[in-house]
Amino acid sequence: MKSAVIVACTHCRCLLIAIQDQKTRSCSYCGARITISKAEKVAIAKNSFEASKILRKLKMRKDSNSQ
Ligand SMILES: [Zn+2]
Repeated sequence: MKSAVIVACTHCRCLLIAIQDQKTRSCSYCGARITISKAEKVAIAKNSFEASKILRKLKMRKDSNSQ
């Protein structure tokens, strides 16, 4: 399995999962095309399954901060 990264969208700042050797990914929220190498990497995971677990945790933390 390929390692995955969690990147912040350069346009809307939402968090997305990308496979590490992927060059670009389109944001599922705003549709912007993100260059993975230029985007801010929030976390690195062993695989996309791990990445989705980390992403869920990050989102929970974000939600509790906003309350
Ligand atoms: Zn976006």
